[in-house]
Amino acid sequence: MSKTATSVWTECLSFIQDNIKQQAYKTWFEPIKPIKLSGEALTIQVPSKFFYEWLEEHYIKLLRVALVKQLGDDAKLIYDVRMENNYSSNNPHTVKFPSSNRNPINPQGVTVPIDFNKRELKNPFIIPGIQKVKIESQLNPNYNFESFVEGDSNRLARSASMAVANKPGGTSFNPLLVYGGVGLGKTHIAHAIGVEIKDKYPDKTVLYISSEKFTQQYIDSVKGNTRNDFIHFYQMIDVLIIDDVQFLSGKTGTQDVFFHIFNHLHQNGKQVILTSDKAPVDMQDIEQRLLSRFKWGLSAELQAPDYETRVSILENKLYRDGVEMPNEIVQYIAKHIKSNVRELEGVLISMIAQASFNRKEFTLSLTKQIVDKFVKNTKREVSIDYIQKIVSNYFELDVATLQSKTRKRHIVQARQLAMYFAKRMTKASLASIGSQIGKRDHATVLHACKTVDNLTETDKQFRRYVDDITKKLTF
Ligand code: ADP
Ligand code: MG
Repeated sequence: MSKTATSVWTECLSFIQDNIKQQAYKTWFEPIKPIKLSGEALTIQVPSKFFYEWLEEHYIKLLRVALVKQLGDDAKLIYDVRMENNYSSNNPHTVKFPSSNRNPINPQGVTVPIDFNKRELKNPFIIPGIQKVKIESQLNPNYNFESFVEGDSNRLARSASMAVANKPGGTSFNPLLVYGGVGLGKTHIAHAIGVEIKDKYPDKTVLYISSEKFTQQYIDSVKGNTRNDFIHFYQMIDVLIIDDVQFLSGKTGTQDVFFHIFNHLHQNGKQVILTSDKAPVDMQDIEQRLLSRFKWGLSAELQAPDYETRVSILENKLYRDGVEMPNEIVQYIAKHIKSNVRELEGVLISMIAQASFNRKEFTLSLTKQIVDKFVKNTKREVSIDYIQKIVSNYFELDVATLQSKTRKRHIVQARQLAMYFAKRMTKASLASIGSQIGKRDHATVLHACKTVDNLTETDKQFRRYVDDITKKLTF
């Protein structure tokens, strides 16, 4: 029987399958299609350029052994790289990103080394054609360095960010991780870096994306069978900015794909900028290998601004909005709103709204009213650690006991309450809550939440627990 591309490839596959992990086999070999056999040369079709690079980097030896077994010492492998569906078009195609942001920053051309007419890449690999793809950078031009007020609380992060913006990929701050609490300017500074780079290096491809959106795109790509296009897309970026990476916690699939993208970008001298609400050492449920990458560059903290900085931020904002306000009032706000910049801005916005709506002057009494409301209404964000402490205290346990494996009823209840409050009062996922409260899985947390819900309806004593702890946590 004469050999065909399919028969040769099937034999190769069964050899390969025996020699690598099932998951790797599924990811890297199942998507390949054998398309041609001529003499000793087998052509296989792969979904993206990244795919072929990956095969070359990780599986070339294995592939060679498999092929030589089938086709002899002169065996050759030819890759056919398939991209999107518009091979015939010579026009640049546009990759659009869903965004609600308006986007006045020009789309950026990117060079994709793929020739759409001649799709064969021969081994050894020369890269044939060039194709332009347009990517929207998703940057908000109002978040720039000029509008980011400098102070002791942000000096390190700000100057590291400017260094990165001056020389993306060319400093040792790669990745640059900016971390800090809510409303302290992480998103602002992340955009500022991107905006500055676009100013200085219009040809660089910059992309800002939140971790949520990145995760969603990844999930969609898995569903739509376009995981490799997803990876390929991100590997074309020169400056990748990912906001709120703590959100990747517990999401192993997304972490895994990000790990590969990160490595590729880093190896190629591309800049990665990350933000997070905590320092790498405090991150939960992020794979070790990813955490260690985060620590390669620089982690810079944004702290809560001191009084002088708060005054400058207010003045700066008033100046940009063209509003005048007596110093006395500005100082009053800066004195009373301490936790974060978003709240400072919130007070200003509602003052301006009130004053213009009611045609009122900015008076100290109006200011007091608004500041009071703000201070009362801003619920403190509680952490899972804090919840565990409060619940343990309440039941006179220590946290280690609460987290232990014991099945004693009152301890189980305390643990379930901690899980319930963690779900109610934090944004953490079930998986992340479980792993922080005694290394349980998400199903256990879900069960705990249901149990607490049920018990609060049927058991008076239990209801008291919930009310008491709620009070303790909200004060
Ligand atoms: P985070 O992402 O850390 O939660 P943001 O970047 O969204 O915080 O900042 C919240 C608001 O505070 C934004 O409107 C931002 O412009 C403003 N802000 C934060 N820090 C500063 C600063 N140093 N100077 C001027 N505005 C700031
Ligand atoms: Mg943010």
